[in-house]
Amino acid sequence: MKLKKILKENLTFSAILLFTSLLWIFSFSLFLITNNNTRNELVEIESLRAHEHYESVLNDIFMKLDNIEVFTETVGVDDLNHVRFDEFVENSDFSNIGFISLSIAPNGIMEYYYSPYFDTDLIGLDLVNDDRTHVRESVAYAIENDVVVINGPFILLQGGNGLVFRKAIYEDDDFVAIINLVIEYDNLNTLFDISKSSVVDVGIYNTDNKLLFGELEYQENLASLDTMDIEDVDWQIGIDVSWNFFLTGLITNIIIILLAIVLYVLAVTYGIKAYRRNRILLSTQSDLIYFDNLTSLPNRRLLIKDVNSIIINNQPFYLCFGDLDNFKNLNDILGHSIGDEYLREISDRFHKMTSGMLTIYRWGGDEFIFLIKTHHKETTIEIIESIYEVFKKPITLGEIDYTVSMSIGVVSFPTHGTTIDDLIKRADIVMYDIKSQQKNNYGFFEDKYLDNLQREVDFENKVNSYSLNDFEVFLQPVIKVSNEKIYGFEGLIRLFDNEGKLVNTQEIIKVYERKGDIPKLDKFVFEEVCKYYVILREKYNRRYSFSFNISPITLSKDFIDFVREMIQKYGINPKYFVMEIIETIGFKDLDESLRLLNEIRALGMRIAMDDFGMGYSSLSYITRLPLSVIKIDRDFVHNFQINEFDKMLILTIRDISKSLNIEIIVEGIETFEQLEFIKEIGAHYYQGYLHSKPMRLEKLLELLDKCK
Ligand code: C2E
Ligand code: MG
Ligand code: MG
Repeated sequence: MKLKKILKENLTFSAILLFTSLLWIFSFSLFLITNNNTRNELVEIESLRAHEHYESVLNDIFMKLDNIEVFTETVGVDDLNHVRFDEFVENSDFSNIGFISLSIAPNGIMEYYYSPYFDTDLIGLDLVNDDRTHVRESVAYAIENDVVVINGPFILLQGGNGLVFRKAIYEDDDFVAIINLVIEYDNLNTLFDISKSSVVDVGIYNTDNKLLFGELEYQENLASLDTMDIEDVDWQIGIDVSWNFFLTGLITNIIIILLAIVLYVLAVTYGIKAYRRNRILLSTQSDLIYFDNLTSLPNRRLLIKDVNSIIINNQPFYLCFGDLDNFKNLNDILGHSIGDEYLREISDRFHKMTSGMLTIYRWGGDEFIFLIKTHHKETTIEIIESIYEVFKKPITLGEIDYTVSMSIGVVSFPTHGTTIDDLIKRADIVMYDIKSQQKNNYGFFEDKYLDNLQREVDFENKVNSYSLNDFEVFLQPVIKVSNEKIYGFEGLIRLFDNEGKLVNTQEIIKVYERKGDIPKLDKFVFEEVCKYYVILREKYNRRYSFSFNISPITLSKDFIDFVREMIQKYGINPKYFVMEIIETIGFKDLDESLRLLNEIRALGMRIAMDDFGMGYSSLSYITRLPLSVIKIDRDFVHNFQINEFDKMLILTIRDISKSLNIEIIVEGIETFEQLEFIKEIGAHYYQGYLHSKPMRLEKLLELLDKCK
């Protein structure tokens, strides 16, 4: 689950980063495109505006030059004197356009300065023959082409820099009048007012693209003034994108870049956080993989990993397989949460015991494995003794003290096995042996267990050498507690070997379950029981209840069909039959089993849970399965005096069954004391050697005849 989360988080992070990048690339490109477009548009608009503006300014200037022409015509060249010229200039408002000098050169006759800088009039300057080449040439150009010539930039005689606008305004055979309008840069600047536009800078260039006026290359041009020849200048306006505009664009770019950086920083911070979190998650993930959720002890997976690595290094060790005694009962009676508490408390104690030499794993349920890295048997014994020492202190949950007891089987590597599977299997065999004998003790693997294993194989071969026809079905009476009368019988499979010795039934069942043939055997017994039913019905005209056992493996559609077939074949009434589900293995698919059991129930047959409390069943089964009967295992009855849990369990089962209208059969009643006890707790029926052992039909008929 967590891995999925990590994956999701990483994907989210990558997606965010990718999305941010894409978004940024997209918006930036969009910006560049639109920006470029608007920029071009703006430049165009501004250029036009600027053109118009400068054109009008220049036209204005030229118009004023034309006025001079008017002036000369009116006054006549001969009449020209500075007083009248003064008047004219003052009326013409030249000063507004930065006029500082006006010369009319009637063939070198006169130049007039309207200026605070000079108080002398210079008359008779022959500009056509001026010793300054550029003056001479520009004057000549203006006369020849009859155009306004813009000349400059110049360092003006009166100081500062400026442009001269020249125009021939009067010409006859021996007289040419040139008007020179000298405008300082400062004044030009106010006229053209280039600062008004944030988009374009404007310069006035000559046809060689040399800047005559403008900020852009102003200094540079000034430096080249000396060498700059007068050209055939018509005027033009050069446009350049202004720094201001560029700056505005730059600022927007910077903002976008900053925004992108912020986004990246956020994404990366998120990424780093996610990475850290994921690292923690991954480590918890490995905790989840290798440590048990409930107890935090290393789990089965880690054990396999650890043991395999020690085996590879060929280091000797001891492995102890421990199983808590009676834990299942505690869990059933007190509930899972108390059971969990109990396990946690034990595991806490185990945690404290863990050392370099001893690691304790939870194998599952109430099973623990102790891995002791030593080749000394004595050290191992010491450690195991210390484990039992830890158990001596009871576990207090709520107000009650619970004793802890565990059966442990011990094996050593490499003596008792060279693979983890072998080692655990053998330790498990020892543990079961201990448990079946005295519990709360430990034992080492011995050769006798190997013999047992061999015996198991031999036993299996032996069972397999018999066919179903060699089996018999014995009947054990079921006694009604209230009147001590036979209520019915349970059919139990029996096999006598060639020497006439009874073969262990439980072991036979295990063999049949292992090889998957148990349904055949169960069908066989059921049919036999049906036959007995018919016999007894005819003989005694009395309806006894008949029980037969089936393994959970047998429970299938096929078996239900078989039951139907038997009902037909023997004309039996299903309500006199009890199908006991034995507890050797649990239900694989509880829902499916439930469906099948309900079908059996619908046929009218009753269902019993056999050996309740010993195997896989739990109290929750009672409420879920369609049970009519619960059979309490004989172990409970045998233990009730010594084991408080068992007594409590029986009482709990009784209470639940009562409320669910389920009858209780107690098995294995051997003594009157036990009978008294089950009477006390209100069990309905019992089976047991006290009344009778399972027997052949003939013997049973004798017994029934006696009882008549
Ligand atoms: P079970 O169904 O619980 O049967 C009761 C077992 O308790 C029988 O053992 C019976 O002989 C034994 N028993 C009855 N009264 C006493 C008593 O007072 N003291 C003691 N110590 N034992 C008593 P059995 O016949 O050896 O059967 C063992 C188990 O094998 C059965 O337990 C049942 O789980 C299984 N089994 C027997 N027959 C069949 C069968 O036909 N099909 C299946 N699937 N399982 C069967
Ligand atoms: Mg039974
Ligand atoms: Mg039983």
